[in-house]
Amino acid sequence: QQALWAQLKDEPTFTADGEQIELVGNIGTPNDVTGVLNNGGEGVGLYRTEFLYMGKSELPSEDEQFEAYKSVLEQMGDKPVVVRTLDVGGDKELPYLDLPKEMNPFLGFRAIRFCLENEHVFRPQLRALLRASVYGNLKIMFPMIATLEEFRKAKAILLEEKENLKQEGHSVSDDIEVGIMVEIPSTAVIAKQFAKEVDFFSVGTNDLVQYTMAADRMNEQVSYLYQPYHPAILNLVNNVIEAAHSEGKWAGMCGEMAGDPIAIPILLGLGLDEFSMSATSILPARTQLKNISKKEMASYKDKLLSMSTAEEVVAFVKEKTE
Ligand code: PEP
Ligand code: MG
Repeated sequence: QQALWAQLKDEPTFTADGEQIELVGNIGTPNDVTGVLNNGGEGVGLYRTEFLYMGKSELPSEDEQFEAYKSVLEQMGDKPVVVRTLDVGGDKELPYLDLPKEMNPFLGFRAIRFCLENEHVFRPQLRALLRASVYGNLKIMFPMIATLEEFRKAKAILLEEKENLKQEGHSVSDDIEVGIMVEIPSTAVIAKQFAKEVDFFSVGTNDLVQYTMAADRMNEQVSYLYQPYHPAILNLVNNVIEAAHSEGKWAGMCGEMAGDPIAIPILLGLGLDEFSMSATSILPARTQLKNISKKEMASYKDKLLSMSTAEEVVAFVKEKTE
C-alpha cells in the first residue's frame, strides 16, 4: 500500500475509465503546505485563514497577512490555491473583536455577514490577497454566502481594492477566479442563478449538512441526523454541480465528505471536478479513484438521487464498489 502511494504521489489523478480528477488539500497555515505537497496534492482547495486571526490579541496587519498568503502561493508554484476569506463566528470566536453573545451562533453574525459590516477587517485581507496574487495561482472564495447580493457586495469591494492597489502602484494578477462556498441550502437551491456570476463553487458539506438537516454539527444528541449521504444532501450537491457545468464553471468540495471513501464514488458519478481534503486522505483517494469508473458511477446517478434514506445510499454504494 505504502509503495503504491509513493508511486502515485507525483502522478495526476485518473479514474479507471481515464477521466481526470483534481485532488487538492485543505490547509490552515503556511506550514501545512508541506503536508499537501508530500502527499501528492495538486493544489490547495481550502486555505482556512481564520488561524491568522486566532490566538492573538489584535487583528493581523495587512502586511502580516500578505506574507502568509505569499508564502503559500510561492510554495505551491503554479498549482491552484483557493483562499477563503475570514470565517469568524459560529464555532470560531475572536476575543478582541468583542462580538455579542448570540443564542444561535451558527445562524448568526458570522463569516461574510460579519465582513461586509466590518470593512476595516475585510478590506485589509482582500488587499493582502490581491498583493500576493502575483506570486502564484490564487483563487479567492467567500464563505457562508446566502444571497446573491452578498456575493455581489463582496466582489465589488474586492474590485475596488484592486483598483486602489493599482493606483498605489502595486501589481495585481488579472486572472484571479472569484468563487463561493456553498454551505447554505438557499445557495445550493438557486445555484443556477449563482453560476452566471461566480467563477466556481466549493461545497462546504460540514455546514451544508448541519443547515439542511437542522442538526448542530457540535451537538452529540442530534448527531444521528448529521447525514452526509442523505438523499437531500446528494440532490443539493448535484444541483450545484449541474449549475456550474451549465455555465462552464467548475465545482469542488472542501467539506469532510470530499475525502470520505463512501462519498467519493457518489461524488465522482455526480461529476464533481475537484475534491479538497486533509493531506493524508489524498493518496488513498487517488488509489481509490484509479479503481472506479466515472461512467459506471454516473449511470447510478438518478437511482441514488431518488433514494429515500441515507442507509439505502450507503448499502447501494458498498454493493457497487466492493
Ligand atoms: C464546511 O463548512 O464544509 C467547511 C469546509 O468549512 P468549515 O468546516 O471551516 O466551516
Ligand atoms: Mg463552513
